[in-house]
Amino acid sequence: MEENDTRGHFIQSIIEEDLKNNKNDGRVVTRFPPEPNGYLHIGHAKSICLNFHMAERFNGRCNLRFDDSNPEKEEQKYIDSIISNVEWLGFDYNGTPLFASDYFDRLYEYAVRLIEKGKAYVCSLTGEQIREYRGTLTEPGKDSPYRDRTVEENIDLFTRMKNGEFGEGEHCLRARIDMASPNINMRDPVIYRIKKMPHPRTGDKWKIYPMYDFTHCLSDAIEGITHSLCTLEFEDHRPLYDWILEELETECHPQQIEFARMDINFTVLSKRKLKRLVDEGHVGGWDDPRMPTLQAMRRRGFTPDSIKTFCSAIGISKKISRIDYGLLENCLRNDLNEKAPRRMGVLNPLEVEIENYPEGESEELTALNHPQKPEFGERTVSFSRRIYIERDDFMEDPPKKFFRLAPGREVRLRFAYFITCKSVEKDPETGEITKLVCTYDPATKGGDAPDGRKVKGTLHWVNAHDCMEADVHLYDRLFMAENPEEKGRDFTENLNPDSLNVKKGCKLEKNLETAEPEYVYQFERLGYFCVDSKLSGKQDVPVFNRTVTLRDSWAKIQKKRNK
Ligand code: ATP
Ligand code: MG
Repeated sequence: MEENDTRGHFIQSIIEEDLKNNKNDGRVVTRFPPEPNGYLHIGHAKSICLNFHMAERFNGRCNLRFDDSNPEKEEQKYIDSIISNVEWLGFDYNGTPLFASDYFDRLYEYAVRLIEKGKAYVCSLTGEQIREYRGTLTEPGKDSPYRDRTVEENIDLFTRMKNGEFGEGEHCLRARIDMASPNINMRDPVIYRIKKMPHPRTGDKWKIYPMYDFTHCLSDAIEGITHSLCTLEFEDHRPLYDWILEELETECHPQQIEFARMDINFTVLSKRKLKRLVDEGHVGGWDDPRMPTLQAMRRRGFTPDSIKTFCSAIGISKKISRIDYGLLENCLRNDLNEKAPRRMGVLNPLEVEIENYPEGESEELTALNHPQKPEFGERTVSFSRRIYIERDDFMEDPPKKFFRLAPGREVRLRFAYFITCKSVEKDPETGEITKLVCTYDPATKGGDAPDGRKVKGTLHWVNAHDCMEADVHLYDRLFMAENPEEKGRDFTENLNPDSLNVKKGCKLEKNLETAEPEYVYQFERLGYFCVDSKLSGKQDVPVFNRTVTLRDSWAKIQKKRNK
């Protein structure tokens, strides 16, 4: 694991050094700059946490700014969901989100200024020609024949581009830098293109839109950003970032610093790939609880704290590495273990009739809401002659190490009584066990025998006369391979066919009828669960998501595999 938050990471050290030298007059201003062309995923959370934490730590501020300069792919629904995700994580972005599109007028003026300085020109090559002229990694590019247009001609053409006099692709505006630069990003990059498309925020006003590299650095400068933190793929764009700000002599010149993006095994983190999973119907949508999007994770029951802990645990560095999905789940388990009240639920019910418990009667027993935390208080659970236990908790012919219920054996029912199995009823045709007949010992109320006798197993259960029915969705990893793209395969070939297991007819403690979506409970011995926010109310019975299991069953499998 890399350096964690408290010990600091290299970006924190850079900022500390800057503060020591009173660079930026001691201000720290960062930003999280999503493009609203998809939903945020857990990788974005790394960037969100980094930017907001650096601002918090150094008493600065962090802007939420939408990099919305490509109307083709951007939509309001993405803007709304990104805002709600950032708020859900608990970060404060100064009240209002900002938009690069709010700077379009200023960006246009900046472009004009570049033209006036002879540092930008209108190019009339086709897109294909521009690519041909650009050269390759090993060969320099060639100058565009339009490179030496006069300032007047450029201003005239650029104004007419803006006024919508030309068709898409007829002209573009390019920075005039160096067609022989070893860095392809510096070979007269396009900074404005004609696009006759309305923008979600500026409507029909613009017929030309600025390119990402031009928009981003200037938006940073306009907002007075001091440290512009981005992922490593922008390293080669940094010379262009700096060139634009230097040529335009902006008052503020933020420092771009790159870090490695987050990558997690058994999943994919790229909007493009996630979109394919949705479009091709491999999952039920962007918020399908198996997806690594923040929407989906929230729906599944992830807490903001577990995500923040995970992001600081993996640290910030320049080294790309694939993080183990198990680490994310462990952060979640640790958080939920502290926060989730306990309940009982039975996923594979087997009926038990307690023959010496009076017919028609029932009683309320006291159950703890958290075994280690008295402040969680108590609740009551009802008990009667008929209960359900987990089918797996009974074996007719148990092996030696099986300590749960078996014919003639006594076990404890959690918070209730000791019971002893007397007989087994079966379906005469299929041989399937349909019911257990047991007796209970009234002296063991609460779960302890006054004579001190011990039992080896404690089972969870629910009252068959007083429980709720529910569907429970059990999730497993979305992909079977640690690297879904291993061996050059298309990642969809590595999808796990068993990533969703719908259990119908589950019997849950009555108290769970009031469970709120996203509020997670531990079902004792089974894992953590919450009501599904989307499906609940739309089906006959409520749907619960299993947020995470109690233990990491994959760690064992992987260890075996590595042997
Ligand atoms: P994707 O690669 O999933 O399509 P993106 O980089 O295109 O994502 P943006 O909206 O441009 O998505 O990203 C907003 C910010 O989040 C950028 O600063 C980007 O560097 C950062 N970011 C995106 N993916 C990751 C990741 N996996 N780890 C860390 N930061 C990320
Ligand atoms: Mg991107």
